[in-house]
Amino acid sequence: MDERRELIEAIIKKYALCPYPAPKVTRRGKPRTTVDLSGISSVDVRMRDEFYMSCALELAKAAADRGEVPVGAVMVMGERILAADFNGRETEKNALYHAELAVIGKSCEALGGWRLPGCELYVTLEPCTMCAGGIVSARVPRVIWGAADKKAGAMGSVLDVNELPLNHRCAVAQGVLAEKCEALLSEFFEKKRT
Ligand SMILES: [Zn+2]
Repeated sequence: MDERRELIEAIIKKYALCPYPAPKVTRRGKPRTTVDLSGISSVDVRMRDEFYMSCALELAKAAADRGEVPVGAVMVMGERILAADFNGRETEKNALYHAELAVIGKSCEALGGWRLPGCELYVTLEPCTMCAGGIVSARVPRVIWGAADKKAGAMGSVLDVNELPLNHRCAVAQGVLAEKCEALLSEFFEKKRT
């Protein structure tokens, strides 16, 4: 097993037990296409979102350690982390290696299909147009992002994919642990300049 995978698995293990209630992911034997948070208090939803965003932040830090723009992503289905990854554009020499796309690909493998019902995608930076496209293609029902991306964000900043007349819309929670996500990014770019 390579070092990148080992590190990701160690981080997933650390966040395997979330202390806050999870949405139900199945309905009559089939996975839910939406993420139903109705039975959970808003405080618990926020605490749970912050818990998984902290996991994404650890992944983002791992990216920064490798000279990558620090972006981390985690896919959660109910109580289970399906996949996690971080930006690998430089080290993998691949323009498509954004954290969200990597995690969508791994989650499709984990679930054995191209649709990701009942899943929640946590990412430290607002998804770009490519990743928002991936989110729509995989029908991810809920996305939680941290820092806004004023230059490339496709979930409210430059454009909002949910406002396009597409065949899928996702629920979005934005600005979760935004200050920590932003601090990591600005620290990275400051270091790069000096
Ligand atoms: Zn992207």
